Amino acid sequence: MTTTSNNIDASSQGEEVARQNEKHSRSLWEMSESEHFVQFYETDAFLLDSLSGFIDTGLAEGGACIVLATKAHRESLEERLKSHGLDLAAAQTQGDYISLDAAEALSKFMVNGLPDPERFALVFGDMIMRAAEGRHHVRVFGELVALLWADGKRAEAIRLEELWNDLGKLHPFSLFCAYPMHDFGSEVYEAEFTEICNRHSQVIPPESYAALTTSGERLRAITLLQQKANALAVERSRLAAIVESSNDAIVGKTLAGIITSWNRAAELLFGYSAQEAIGKPITLIIPAELRHEEEDIIGKLRQGIRIEHYETVRVRKDGRRIDVSLSISPVKDSAGNIIGAAKIARDITERKELERRKDEFISMASHELKTPVTSLKGFTQLLLRQFKRLDDNETLRYLARMDTQLNKLTKLISDLLDISKMQTGQLEYRMEPFDLNVLAQEIVENVQGMTRTHRLILQKTAEVCVFGDRDRVGQVLINLLTNAIKYSPGADQVIVQIATDETNALVSVQDFGIGIAEAHQEKIFERFYQVNEPAEKTYPGLGIGLYITSQIIRRHRGCLWVKSQKGEGSVFNFSLPLL
Ligand code: ADP
Repeated sequence: MTTTSNNIDASSQGEEVARQNEKHSRSLWEMSESEHFVQFYETDAFLLDSLSGFIDTGLAEGGACIVLATKAHRESLEERLKSHGLDLAAAQTQGDYISLDAAEALSKFMVNGLPDPERFALVFGDMIMRAAEGRHHVRVFGELVALLWADGKRAEAIRLEELWNDLGKLHPFSLFCAYPMHDFGSEVYEAEFTEICNRHSQVIPPESYAALTTSGERLRAITLLQQKANALAVERSRLAAIVESSNDAIVGKTLAGIITSWNRAAELLFGYSAQEAIGKPITLIIPAELRHEEEDIIGKLRQGIRIEHYETVRVRKDGRRIDVSLSISPVKDSAGNIIGAAKIARDITERKELERRKDEFISMASHELKTPVTSLKGFTQLLLRQFKRLDDNETLRYLARMDTQLNKLTKLISDLLDISKMQTGQLEYRMEPFDLNVLAQEIVENVQGMTRTHRLILQKTAEVCVFGDRDRVGQVLINLLTNAIKYSPGADQVIVQIATDETNALVSVQDFGIGIAEAHQEKIFERFYQVNEPAEKTYPGLGIGLYITSQIIRRHRGCLWVKSQKGEGSVFNFSLPLL
């Protein structure tokens, strides 16, 4: 029984919906006086189709049309009207066609963020009355409500709809309101949506529905939508449960940086309750000196770029700073427009503290090692000189080996000290103009003196003058050359090339060695990162040379990058701005 009666209800309801919709599409052009209808739309093209039909018909009937829209919409509309043969300039001069920027129109009656009824009635009552003089009828297209809604001013948008209705009781006119569907984002605004619909005499669904022509198609579409809505509701509560139980803080925000969701972990991490945080700007938790980060992040999100493991600092409600790692993904609406972001924040305060302690230890240990090693080096040089006089070749050989090992140790200690200084921003650079070719020649000769296995080939062009710290750039070349030799045990040559483009000096160091798999190519520039392939032989080192190299190049406003293929060698490139 119940099923049958439901079926009857559903089918008669469906027919009613279909009848309504047929009426909607007709009514776009042939509307009665004081009609107030709302159009939801997915694409601008669809809105402009409806709108140009609405205005064309109004003007053809000898009426006046008022368009309160964004600049982009007004321009596109006017182009269409002209292409339909309308003399727009004449229509404007005669007062048949009046157009005003939506934001400007809003500013005429908004007081302290709220629509002021008296001002509204004054501004638009007057405008409509004057437009109506001697004319058949007045049609108004307004996007003011949509602007308020997009700004998050939902109650104000609904209030403005009421003001339009009140005005319609005093002066008869037809009103066409439009809301882009993507402004409703991922939230279900059931109450507000119903309110908006209730404030209109007709509701026109977006194109994906309005384009369906038969009642059968429309019934199927409604059923499908109901099924989708049910499935989404279930999925939503499943996702909500995951988000709520996550140990990482998960925060949603709009592209304007307004917080839209805030899970339990976010409450614990930042100290604000969901109620306190939602609706507030995300700058609530960004320290004042890091506010610029937000602009960079939003800029990346707008381009659809995901940000991963971005380490930064945030501030809690109690003012305490916390180290966090952020992963931020753009959130898109069904049409693929980016409408906001989902941010996962992980507390890394403990890890950072450990890192700080490790850095401190490295800095202290390398300082302590420096003095005894320097003194060992001095005494070795002394002994070398003495045994040279005595002509004791065997001892001299041992001493020479000792000296080589001491050189390695000195280089290691100075690298570790450099890293510590880089971490604290204390590494000094002595900037001066110098010829990169001359420096490269010197370094290649020095490094060649230390290797018998490889031939270093330098290919250079004319004078290449750069401005930088000559010793540090030399350090970069030494690092790249020693790596090229170290990681190409089966090869016998390394090629260094120096060239220029309009603005940069370009240096490349090419080896024919073991190469680097793509998965490691970005990471090798990180501190202490070494490629460890289980099947491959191990190479001595600490994984700091390329980190230091990249920091030095960055400090010179240059770039450092690698091109490599596993098993086929690598080309390390860097650029430095020309003087
Ligand atoms: P390391 O002291 O380990 O050489 P680096 O920072 O200089 O430290 O290099 C980091 C890692 O990058 C190395 O451990 C090695 O795996 C890889 N690498 C660097 N240069 C080359 C190269 N020319 N060919 C192959 N792998 C390289």
